[in-house]
Amino acid sequence: MPELPEVETVVRELHKKLVSRTIKSVNVRASKLIGIGPAGLGNKRSPFVKTTGDKQETIDKGRIFERLLKGKRVLSVRRRAKLLIFSLSGNYILLVHLKMTGQFIFEDKVLKKKTGSKYRILNKLTAPLVQLPGKHTHVIFKFQDGATLYYNDVRKFSYLKLIKAAELSQVAEINEYGPEPLSRGFTLAIFLEVSKKASKKVTIKQFLMDNSVVVGIGNIYSDEILFQAGVRPERLVLGITNQELRKIYSQIGPVLKKGIKAKGSSVGDFIRTDGTWGAMGKYHFVYGRRKLPCKVCGSIIESIKLGGRTGSYCPHCQK
Ligand SMILES: [Zn+2]
Repeated sequence: MPELPEVETVVRELHKKLVSRTIKSVNVRASKLIGIGPAGLGNKRSPFVKTTGDKQETIDKGRIFERLLKGKRVLSVRRRAKLLIFSLSGNYILLVHLKMTGQFIFEDKVLKKKTGSKYRILNKLTAPLVQLPGKHTHVIFKFQDGATLYYNDVRKFSYLKLIKAAELSQVAEINEYGPEPLSRGFTLAIFLEVSKKASKKVTIKQFLMDNSVVVGIGNIYSDEILFQAGVRPERLVLGITNQELRKIYSQIGPVLKKGIKAKGSSVGDFIRTDGTWGAMGKYHFVYGRRKLPCKVCGSIIESIKLGGRTGSYCPHCQK
């Protein structure tokens, strides 16, 4: 699952590539990923919307999405937490959450010539090259200059939601997000204060992964932050000293920034917008390194189940 450094990588790359480009056409092949308006998509994820008023109709959301996006120009691409925010001409905003396996591949003429539209969309050396659009390509954006943006999602948990710019404040998920870890607003005082209010059974790894505490930190970066801080993932938040909390806090920014600099970690399924891989995986100290020697002390990295997640740690470097 992409975390903050991976989403930030996608945002920076798409901002550079898409700004000032105009959408010529959109082809939605899986309408259940599409939302129209600020409301949630619901568990059923119906591909249809019903219109209200005198003339009630059932309309495929994909067709509305295609019609509304045609001719729109991309003004900017940014993010809040792990939600991508595309500002478009005509006062529209496209919100995209990649969830587990959503991915964008942007192909201009140069890249198309180089790759023949074939990409290793699953991030494994053994994964086959897939010709795009493939069976996991659910939305295809064509631009006026001939470039194409493919949206793939193997597991289909992601969504693309089109709203009016004025509706941004009504988007529930945005209103629920806690502070951005790389913002000035995320201070040590706030972190310490929130940690005192943690519930009894919450471990420090779960706490770091809680979007209401701080956004964008998932399995990979919580493991790496705790390694740098020397604290084991299964420790209960309420049992961690202020000094240790300070250490953890002080590692959040540097670890995430290192991930961004490496263009994300492709140990999961993440790939960059040109189909290449992020390099952060080589710099991991603990995540994905169970049974391998610690890069600092040589002890064997261990792992522990915490809820549905696995935390990896060095039994010597982390207390
Ligand atoms: Zn160690």
